[in-house]
Amino acid sequence: MQVLSISDEVVPTIYSLNVKQRFDNVQLVLSCGDLPIYYLEFVVTMLGIPCLYVHGNHDGPEETSTGQIIIEPRGCISLEDRSVFHDGLILAGLGGSIRYNHQSNDQYTEQEMTIRVLRLTPRLFFNRLRYGRYLDVLLTHAPPLHIHNGPDYPHRGFQTFLRFMDRFEPRYLIHGHIHLSYGFGSKRRTRYHKTLVVNTAGYRLLEIDPAAAHSGYTAKIYRA
Ligand SMILES: [Zn+2]
Repeated sequence: MQVLSISDEVVPTIYSLNVKQRFDNVQLVLSCGDLPIYYLEFVVTMLGIPCLYVHGNHDGPEETSTGQIIIEPRGCISLEDRSVFHDGLILAGLGGSIRYNHQSNDQYTEQEMTIRVLRLTPRLFFNRLRYGRYLDVLLTHAPPLHIHNGPDYPHRGFQTFLRFMDRFEPRYLIHGHIHLSYGFGSKRRTRYHKTLVVNTAGYRLLEIDPAAAHSGYTAKIYRA
């Protein structure tokens, strides 16, 4: 399954009338946050495929051209604090960044993020019973601690994501938050035990094989 992951930047390649032709084989969009609502709605409308998303620390309400205030992208599906089974893939989402000030609802202390993981755990065990595995993809905004982190506290990753990968072994952890233009996030993918950690800042095109779920990691990335 071709998956388009996006976050953090409005990319002209995607915010284009040619997006359908460029990404004609994509079957699923995953958004890792810090994107305008209009952009997500554009992507889901133009591609006509499902879009699952989590929030970034800069996401907030948006006013439409008609003066309507919207707080979530219409036509997209929130993956926050939940797990879904989609087309053979099990996905779960934990958006937001580490808490560094009081200006956003999508910031969490390490302890708060651990509590979110614990709340998600019963569903992951249900997945294990029903599908034979906990999940395939964890969608986050922030990275795991010491993987693709920035040097400053707001761009620090969550330690609890390391424990999550140790325990539940998703094939992918896809995150945003670490803009490549900042100069400290040049590495876009890192293998951590059985998980490939992918920084999707901007966009990435992934090929994820649902059938490979029981046979370990065989997915590949063919565009940086
Ligand atoms: Zn962010």
